Amino acid sequence: MRIEQVSESVHVVAGTNVNWAVVTGAGGVTLVDAGYPRDTEAVLRSVREIGHDPADIAAVLLTHAHLDHIGAIPTLVERYGVPVYTGAEEVRHAKREYLQQITPKQMVQRLGTRRGIVWVSQTLRVCAGHIGMSVPTATPADADTLAALPGGFVEVPTPGHTNGHTAYLMPSEGVLFSGDALVTGHPLLLEDGLQLLPDFFNHDEAGTLASARGLGAVEARVLVPGHGSPIRQELPSLMAEFVRG
Ligand SMILES: [Zn+2]
Repeated sequence: MRIEQVSESVHVVAGTNVNWAVVTGAGGVTLVDAGYPRDTEAVLRSVREIGHDPADIAAVLLTHAHLDHIGAIPTLVERYGVPVYTGAEEVRHAKREYLQQITPKQMVQRLGTRRGIVWVSQTLRVCAGHIGMSVPTATPADADTLAALPGGFVEVPTPGHTNGHTAYLMPSEGVLFSGDALVTGHPLLLEDGLQLLPDFFNHDEAGTLASARGLGAVEARVLVPGHGSPIRQELPSLMAEFVRG
């Protein structure tokens, strides 16, 4: 686990090949995404390390319901009764009314390369015993609810990676949490930098690309992706090349 402060109120935590963010504000802490199941202790520790108690977590904001983003949620719900908000369509995915996630067969296909073998073994380790996890308490949040959370957020629908994938903008500090709509690194990517995840992770590749390009219009100065390092740069200028490409 590595913690990086990217703005006054936002700490980004790198867990097992995935990020979550701890956002502080009036009324406590908002957690944006929640790591892999076996990252749960690290999620709790990250909140403590920035001077809060897990009981201060007012809500989890979920970009999408893949296993590497929902891991600590069952513990947070059970121990602290934390509400979980996500996009209206993603609520159905979180409840596992359907599943848009890399299949076991697609994972096995990754075993052809050295980096694929490492990624698969790491992933199996942090998911073990929790493959069937869901978030039955997920609910959609209206604009007023999101604005009132610690940090204050606006929803940015970004369908593609999953049908209900949702990015979140924190207008007060110009921070965009892009989830898996746009990333800057991943063990299965050959190099770091602004890009999409490999296509087998994206339910709808064309939709993922369109949503990522749309983020070029968002007024933000810090990009916090679901995978890879955060980038501190005005988004329209950061995204100019990506949007053109
Ligand atoms: Zn994902």
